[in-house]
Amino acid sequence: MVYNWLNNALNFIMGQHCLLCNQAIKNPSVDFCPNCLKDLPVVLHGCQQCGVALEMERVSHCGHCLTAPPNYDRVISAYSYASPVRQLMARYKFQRQLSLAPIFASALMQQIKRPDIRIEALLPVPLHAMRLRQRGFNQAIELAKPIAQAYLKPLLLKSIRRNRNTDSQLNLPAKQRAGNVRGAFEYIQPIKAKGIAIIDDVMTTGSTANELAKTLKLNGVEYVEVWCIARANAKH
Ligand SMILES: [Zn+2]
Ligand SMILES: [Zn+2]
Repeated sequence: MVYNWLNNALNFIMGQHCLLCNQAIKNPSVDFCPNCLKDLPVVLHGCQQCGVALEMERVSHCGHCLTAPPNYDRVISAYSYASPVRQLMARYKFQRQLSLAPIFASALMQQIKRPDIRIEALLPVPLHAMRLRQRGFNQAIELAKPIAQAYLKPLLLKSIRRNRNTDSQLNLPAKQRAGNVRGAFEYIQPIKAKGIAIIDDVMTTGSTANELAKTLKLNGVEYVEVWCIARANAKH
């Protein structure tokens, strides 16, 4: 109690500090000092469909999207999934630093700018009930809230249920992961929107987003984007 009070008072007197290096920041509307901000990794040139970083400037799609395109139409990410975003994400998800959610969300909205006019609703990736109990919150919903508010879009929280807990098998190779998420989502409530943005924290192989997009498209959704905080450069 006393400690909290002291801490708050100190924060008030000393001003805001960089989330990464703890250096004092002059501008109260930013969360990182200029040095850390310029070090945050972003995908400079990504595949127009799956968002994975491309090495060659003149190509617009990765080989995978050209030969076997995923069920989602476009991915927009705030950062690439590398240090120190990786560590920040761990603080958010596993140490419950929920104050990072609006910071991540605003970084993502800086990349989205104006959402595609086809997007009518936002769908945070559902967590399996058991995982939700363990973690205490759904990290995708917390990210989606400020975005839904800013863009005036409804959040779909009861339309899709996750029937299998696939989240825990992060270390499986890409091919096995794709098989592992097959049929993981169940469509339980009608969705009127024809265009949907799936919201996720980290997108690695994209197999979860792909399976979710497949479930949506099988049920009448025509256009699906994935908005994620961090896009990993995973091989397909
Ligand atoms: Zn810093
Ligand atoms: Zn691609």
